[in-house]
Amino acid sequence: MPEVAAEQKDFKFKIVLLGEGCVGKSSLVLRFVENKFSSRHLSTIQASFVSKTIHIDDCKAELHIWDTAGQEKYHALGPIYYRGSNGVLLVFDITDRRSFERVKNWVLEIKTCLGKTAEILIVGNKTDLEDERLISRQDAEVYADSENALYMETSAQDNIGIPEAFEALTAKMIEHARTAPT
Ligand code: GDP
Repeated sequence: MPEVAAEQKDFKFKIVLLGEGCVGKSSLVLRFVENKFSSRHLSTIQASFVSKTIHIDDCKAELHIWDTAGQEKYHALGPIYYRGSNGVLLVFDITDRRSFERVKNWVLEIKTCLGKTAEILIVGNKTDLEDERLISRQDAEVYADSENALYMETSAQDNIGIPEAFEALTAKMIEHARTAPT
């Protein structure tokens, strides 16, 4: 019943990270969960699954965050990776046009695998490299809007915008859980 769902305060969500290799997916997770940054490519050493609980207003959300563990290079992400996802953090590098173009393929894949069951947040990462920016915020926002996705920018290196990104996605997932029939 909608009245019951609207009162729900404790949530468990599965979030999957998607995007091309080297755009900073693992770095965003490491920053969010442990507040650390490494200049090394992390995908192969990072555990593929971490949890973190956050609070938004009077709600508690336990986030189960799945990283690709480098498999996007071989495009080996299977149904298990996507299964049961409530949210997708789809990352590109604002200095790498190809990584932005590839976002469109990931969106198609998400829609094929998840339909409308998951909320999508597109993230433009590496804003510390502003001088090398190739994708404008406006272009990314227009595209995200056309796909009914959110758009935010981050720097894992300079620790900018990361809690805000996870919180925005979580707020959308809470709204979704409260309004969508299960
Ligand atoms: P993944 O393959 O998408 O998981 O990417 P990684 O997290 O392994 O990061 C790839 C490379 O980009 C590493 O050398 C990171 O140090 C670097 N990197 C990640 N985030 C940022 C950022 O916000 N700014 C800059 N300048 N480099 C970053």
